[in-house]
Amino acid sequence: MLRKFASYYKPHKKLFILDMVCAFFMALIDLVFPMVTRELTNDIIPNGKMRELYIITGTLILLFILRALFNYIVDYWGHVVGARMEANMRKDLFSHLQTLPFSYFDKVRTGHIMSRIVNDLREISELAHHGPEDLFLSVIMLIGSFILMFTINVPLTLIVFIFVPLMLFFALKKRKKMNEAFREVKRKIANVNAQVEDSISGIRVSKSFTNEEYEMYKFELGNREFKDSREYAFKSMAEFFTGMNFLINMLNLVVVSVGGIFIYNGTMNIPDLLAFLLFINFFMQPIRRLTQFTQQFQSGMTGFERFLQILEVKPDIIDSNDAMELDNVKGDIKFEDVTFSYDEEETVLSGMNLDITNGKTLALVGPSGGGKSTLCNLIPRFYEVDKGSITIDGIDIKDIKVKSLREHIGFVQQDVFLFTGTIEENILYGRSDATHEEVIKAAKSANIHDFIISLPNGYKTYIGEKGVRLSGGQKQRISIARVFLKNPPILILDEATSALDNETEIKIQKALEELSKGRTTIVIAHRLSTIKNADKIVVLTDKGIEEVGTHEDLIDNKGLYSKLYKSQFKGYIPDEVA
Ligand code: ADP
Repeated sequence: MLRKFASYYKPHKKLFILDMVCAFFMALIDLVFPMVTRELTNDIIPNGKMRELYIITGTLILLFILRALFNYIVDYWGHVVGARMEANMRKDLFSHLQTLPFSYFDKVRTGHIMSRIVNDLREISELAHHGPEDLFLSVIMLIGSFILMFTINVPLTLIVFIFVPLMLFFALKKRKKMNEAFREVKRKIANVNAQVEDSISGIRVSKSFTNEEYEMYKFELGNREFKDSREYAFKSMAEFFTGMNFLINMLNLVVVSVGGIFIYNGTMNIPDLLAFLLFINFFMQPIRRLTQFTQQFQSGMTGFERFLQILEVKPDIIDSNDAMELDNVKGDIKFEDVTFSYDEEETVLSGMNLDITNGKTLALVGPSGGGKSTLCNLIPRFYEVDKGSITIDGIDIKDIKVKSLREHIGFVQQDVFLFTGTIEENILYGRSDATHEEVIKAAKSANIHDFIISLPNGYKTYIGEKGVRLSGGQKQRISIARVFLKNPPILILDEATSALDNETEIKIQKALEELSKGRTTIVIAHRLSTIKNADKIVVLTDKGIEEVGTHEDLIDNKGLYSKLYKSQFKGYIPDEVA
């Protein structure tokens, strides 16, 4: 895993090395300062060597300017490396997600994926930038200081040496507590966010049931937990910093007292003590960096592991080597002995045979859960059949490039999804290289053009998050315009079950009739007019295909369809009745 992690440094190798080199010189300059101070106070100042004093002061000024430069590079370019690595990882993750099959998204919650893309990658980026630098700097600083201190005074160095592990132990323990506390804060704020999102999305429901107080109660519970977790986190943070400062003060005290005794005994002089004090006051920094590193390493690596877990999910629908492009599609579709299940528990389609002739309309009717949507989802290979085959113009869809296959199929879904952007951009989603005139033509065919131009900004009207400013019927017609623009030879329609007002319904119906002209159309039908006009009706139940035929055939048949028709047709076939 570490090797995989390191591979993300590769494109930024030069910057990373620059970062490390600068960090190294920063540490070196820091180490030089106490030694120079010692020299100044020991020899140069008491002996009035003014020329040396000027030279040393001048050199120190130069060194500090250099240090500032290195510091800037480390802080700026170091973070840039982290940000670039994070961007690369995010790109890899996002492009991989685009290849994953529907079955993956059925199982994973959007929130989880979001947290991978946002939170985990942030932690990884923190580790990527600070990790090597923190480790490198603190090790150089600690080892360097000890070596130099040893050259000054061995017994006093040994005393300091005992103190440092003590401080490290304390720091690690408290830091762990502090990190856990802050992680809890993150969880709690995520709960509060989820609660707010849920409440706002469901505001119509809670208002209509006058459950505002209950919503407040749920929110307040989460809000209080969040506040409590923060208070606890601040407490552990205060403990960490207070403790560390106290220990540093104690170390100072020990060094001054023991050093004082040594001076009294004549085994040490004042400049040596001064150098010692300067060294130990550096310690806070490497110790803080080391503890920070352990924490960043832990959370960064956990994040990286989760990141890899997604990258390792295989896209299960991949083009075979000799997959072909579809060309001049007529649109004959054939299901041969098709068996499919989402999981082991339940077979949804079993040994199904079905023929759809090009240019004709097939209506799927039947009770909810009968497998109508499933059947439709198999044609563009949103899911893979377990057994049997589906062919288009005699070619097995498995032998067709997925992109080419899907380019020839238009899907009009019940739940229309519009992206944030303008109306035109949303229609262009059907075919991005279309001209403005083509967009207008598609909108006219979808019966939505007049509405669009009645808006102040026309086609440039911005649709807010999830297209909230449009009615269901308008959204549906925009989605139909998309498919007009795409102009596929095969069409799959999932008719809206929810009742629309008469005028809207007529507009949509007309648009759909226009759309299906000359295309092979499979429609999950709920409306009598659609069903009556279909060339073939398939009655699908959880036992498989019950009946096939035209409206007249099926009425004569006196089976399930005729029962349905007689019992409740007033324009709809409600799912539940059959
Ligand atoms: P219909 O469109 O006729 O209402 P569906 O094709 O939606 O029927 O559902 C057929 C069966 O498959 C149902 O038992 C349903 O619970 C199941 N099912 C549908 N979608 C999924 C899915 N994504 N994962 C698992 N099971 C599913």
